[in-house]
Amino acid sequence: DNQIDYIKTQLIEGNFEEDERFERFSKADRLQDERCELPVFKQRDKLLTAIRDHKILIVEGETGSGKTTQIPQYLHEVGYTKYGKIACTQPRRVAAMSVAARVAQEMRVKLGHEIGYSIRFEDCTSETTVIKYMTDGMLLREFMMDPELSSYSVVMIDEAHERTLHTDILFGLIKDLARARNNLKVIISSATMDAEKFARYFDNAPIFGIPGRRFPVDVFYTKSPEADYIEAAVITVLQIHVTQPAGDILVFLTGQEEIESTHDILLSRTRGLGTKIPELIILPIYSNLPSEMQAKIFEPTPEGARKVVLATNIAETSVTIDGIIYVIDCGLCKETCYNPRTGMESLVIVPISKASARQRAGRAGRVAPGKCFRIYTLWSYDNELEENPVPEIQRCNLGNVVLILKSLGIEDLVHFDFLDPPASETLIRALEELYALGALNDEGQLTKLGRRMAEFPVDPKLSKCIMYSEKYSCTNEVATIAAMLSVGNSVFFRPKDKIMHADNARMSFSCRDGDHLTLFNVYSQWEEANFSSIWCRDHFIQYRSMNKARDIKEQLVDLCERVEIIVNKEPCKDIKMVIKSFCSGYFFNCARLHKSGIYKTVKNAHTVFIHPSSVMFKEMPKWVMYHELVLTSKEFMRHASIMSSQWLTELAPHYFSSQDLDDDSIKKMPKPIKLNP
Ligand code: ADP
Ligand code: MG
Repeated sequence: DNQIDYIKTQLIEGNFEEDERFERFSKADRLQDERCELPVFKQRDKLLTAIRDHKILIVEGETGSGKTTQIPQYLHEVGYTKYGKIACTQPRRVAAMSVAARVAQEMRVKLGHEIGYSIRFEDCTSETTVIKYMTDGMLLREFMMDPELSSYSVVMIDEAHERTLHTDILFGLIKDLARARNNLKVIISSATMDAEKFARYFDNAPIFGIPGRRFPVDVFYTKSPEADYIEAAVITVLQIHVTQPAGDILVFLTGQEEIESTHDILLSRTRGLGTKIPELIILPIYSNLPSEMQAKIFEPTPEGARKVVLATNIAETSVTIDGIIYVIDCGLCKETCYNPRTGMESLVIVPISKASARQRAGRAGRVAPGKCFRIYTLWSYDNELEENPVPEIQRCNLGNVVLILKSLGIEDLVHFDFLDPPASETLIRALEELYALGALNDEGQLTKLGRRMAEFPVDPKLSKCIMYSEKYSCTNEVATIAAMLSVGNSVFFRPKDKIMHADNARMSFSCRDGDHLTLFNVYSQWEEANFSSIWCRDHFIQYRSMNKARDIKEQLVDLCERVEIIVNKEPCKDIKMVIKSFCSGYFFNCARLHKSGIYKTVKNAHTVFIHPSSVMFKEMPKWVMYHELVLTSKEFMRHASIMSSQWLTELAPHYFSSQDLDDDSIKKMPKPIKLNP
């Protein structure tokens, strides 16, 4: 009875909002209203008719017009899901997750039930799922399991203008599949870019335009080039905040580290501003941001405050943040760049294209007239920016994709129907790499090893290591390290006020053989501590990254079982064999000490350095194998381990000649091998 009294008092006092149920219903109603205000809503019937009447439809509309969240719902509402699921691909993991969450909310269902998402190493779908948001890479994987995609009635290739490698490959496969399947609807949707090109490619498919609402945006340039664009961006944010009317700010930067440091600088500068200045809420968004943090950027800005979102080009088109009036554009982005001659892939910061610059500016004019501040000169916009971005297929390593296409039975890659074909040099290089790994035979056909490797959604170099580890019964170790490498460089936590402690803790995991086994030490000690979060905190390890690694490891182990690799339960007897297994895939990445501190890669005599974060930074062994190169002030080898040069001739006899391994030999270019692409 006390309980009832209590509730009564609450009701009388009008605390409705605090009752969870009331809040939820009103929120859902609000969401339904918002749905009807989106530009795509006015076109709903016309759009559904066009989809009914055509097999393939190109849909073009301003970012934020409702393509991604609404079109799959409309199709579900009119019954397409009776005949199969709806797939909607996204180039980015974050977008797939956040859009699925939004649509689940709009439909008042639990995420993972009717509405789900699937990204690499994370499947949030169930038997009841009818709309599945997924990365383009995941749909490509599904093609491997079911080349007819028979469980789908609609496939929507969304954000097509992003032209990611996987999207481009999907184009070719879907075009073919649409001819074969009469009961499949295909929608290619994009921001206002490239629609005619898509239409031509898809046998003159009709274009359905969604008239957008868009307000004018004033664009400003710097008078002279800025030496430090971060500093310039920070100053611009503060100037806007102090002098301009209400409205949120979106800042485009190039990557996570840059965003984090800009975040810190902004925090410290606003601390000194005193209480007269309204609150500035600083929020980051980039692909690796944990999902609960991602959700924050969509929360409405409280009255009187101003929000500043620090984003990578993810906010260019894939996610829409309401309320942005000011855009600050540094004019740069991070891109993978592949050199087929050396076979090296690296992330580099490059100028964006004019098309991207226009998209970025457009983000300011969605809700009201806006302003865009470009931290570069008008001259460089006119003279230094390319018209359009270069599609990823023309600037990355194709190893994984070639493996997938080969396993789909597509032998003739040169004549595959690419929207924009990759450079033949890159294609040949990928074939050579797969040949060196033993995934293809000298006729260019998939080997038994290659077929098993194709099952793994990882770089072929890494899947090769996993295959090879079986020989030395160290698959458990190799899979663990592979998972740790996949979470990148976010394992160790280094708070600014405790750098000494953090570095000491990190030292305690060090293994003399290098970073690979050091990562293994971290994981196995965490495992011994029952995967505890407290253990992580005490050892300056990021719990979140470890959990992700654990998840990835479990999936790799499952995949091993699928291709019948026995995963050892007992610890591996000879720990050097773990490194040797890695070398079986990463023999492309080995380097020899040239003179103090300076290394040369074995095959191309390219100058590289051990990354300062490596446990071998001081030691400088003669031969090292590394996981990847990162280019900052120099080219650094990240995650490096000691290796034996004798392994190279044993593991990659086709790739290395004894001359390559001679200490003072003059490096020759690799001998061309006969391979018909
Ligand atoms: P498009 O695909 O045409 O760019 P979307 O369907 O992604 O448009 O977005 C439509 C609207 O839905 C956006 O204007 C935004 O207000 C809202 N929205 C989309 N995703 C989210 C999200 N994760 N959280 C909150 N609102 C969202
Ligand atoms: Mg979209």
